[in-house]
Amino acid sequence: MEERCDLTELIKSMCAHCRGIPDEPALNPLGRRPAVSASWPGWCAACGQPFGQDDMIRSDGIGGWVAECCAGDDR
Ligand SMILES: [Zn+2]
Ligand SMILES: [Zn+2]
Repeated sequence: MEERCDLTELIKSMCAHCRGIPDEPALNPLGRRPAVSASWPGWCAACGQPFGQDDMIRSDGIGGWVAECCAGDDR
């Protein structure tokens, strides 16, 4: 069973980010993942505040989405 990257969801042996090849400028270091606009409303995975469709959200890397309320700092 191959481990998958939590950023790209590629098998790690095929993931440029895991192999240290910076081919995706959108991938930021240390959890600063690229913000995307939400396709659907949901709840911030970090604090539970609701966000709306088209709000900017970031993947938390474990299947959740962190909204602007919590994505703005450098945790
Ligand atoms: Zn990776
Ligand atoms: Zn939040």
